[in-house]
Amino acid sequence: MFEISLFGRGGQGIVTAASVIADAALHDGRYPQKMPVYGAARRGDTVKAFVRVDTEPVLLRAPILTPDCVMICDASIPLHDAGRGLRASGVLVLNDAGIPDVAARAGVRTFCCVDANAVSREVFGPLPIPLTGIIMVGALLRAVSVIGEASVRAVLGRYVSRDMLEKNLRALHEGFTRARLESNEKAESGYLFAPAAWDDADLLPYQELSPGPVFTPETLVDLKTGSWRSKRPRIDAARCRACGRCRPICPEGVVWEDNEEMVIDYDYCKGCGICARECPCEAISMVEEQ
Ligand code: SF4
Ligand code: SF4
Repeated sequence: MFEISLFGRGGQGIVTAASVIADAALHDGRYPQKMPVYGAARRGDTVKAFVRVDTEPVLLRAPILTPDCVMICDASIPLHDAGRGLRASGVLVLNDAGIPDVAARAGVRTFCCVDANAVSREVFGPLPIPLTGIIMVGALLRAVSVIGEASVRAVLGRYVSRDMLEKNLRALHEGFTRARLESNEKAESGYLFAPAAWDDADLLPYQELSPGPVFTPETLVDLKTGSWRSKRPRIDAARCRACGRCRPICPEGVVWEDNEEMVIDYDYCKGCGICARECPCEAISMVEEQ
C-alpha cells in the first residue's frame, strides 16, 4: 500500500488533485481510497486530503499518520506540521515558491520540488490564490511510480471544465518537466518528524461528552475570525472608482464605504479573495499576512 498526504489552501485544487490521483490509480487497475479533510471550509484556509493506493482492495478506515509521500502544495504551510510521520524512506513533494527548505533534503530519501506559484501565474494568469494542485500532481509523477502520467491525462477531464482542460494539461506538463528531483541515500529509517499520536482510547462515546456551549451573537463578535486569514485584501485607492461592487459580494459583509473610500474590517475578513477577483478595476490585491 502507498499512502499520500496532500496539504494546501482552500482554492488551490487540493481535493481535486487527490481525486485525480485516486481516479488515475483506478484507471491503472489499482485500488484507491481518497479522504478530504476541510478545516474552516473556506478559500485560503488549510485543506488536507489523503490517498491510499494498493493492488488489493483498501479496507483500512484509519487516518494516514505515517505516509509514504507528503505533497505540500502551498509554500506557507509549515513543513514540521505537514511532514509529521513522513517516512524517511519516503517522498517529499514541495511547492518551494520562495522558501526552499534545505533541511528537508537531508531528512527524506526522495525530495522533489517545483515553484508551482510561478507555473500557476504563467498558465492560469494572476489569481488571488495560485492554482497549484494539478501542477503538484505533475511533480508527483516525477517522484513516484504509483500512478502513470497517461492515466492522469485520461481522467483529468472529469474534474475540470472543458474550457479549462487545456490549461490544466499544460499545468500538469509544466509541473512534471520543471520538478527538480534529488535523492538522499543516507535517509533510511525513522520519520522526517515524529508521527502524530492516535489513540482510540482517548475518544469518548457521545453520551459521555459534556454539553457544549451555546453560541450567542456576542460570542461570535468576540471571535475575531480575521486571525485565521493567510492573505489580506489591499485596496489601491488610486485605482478604486468607488463602484461599490466589492461591498455586496463580500460573503462576510466586512466591506463598506466611508467618505467615498472603501474600507475593510480586517478583524473579520477571512481572506477569501472574492473581492479581488470581482473588482472591475483590479484595485484590490491579495497580499501575504505578515
Ligand atoms: S470593486 Fe474595486 S473599484 Fe469597486 S469599490 Fe471595490 S475596490 Fe473600488
Ligand atoms: S473583504 Fe470580504 S471578499 Fe474580500 S477577502 Fe475579505 S472576506 Fe473575502
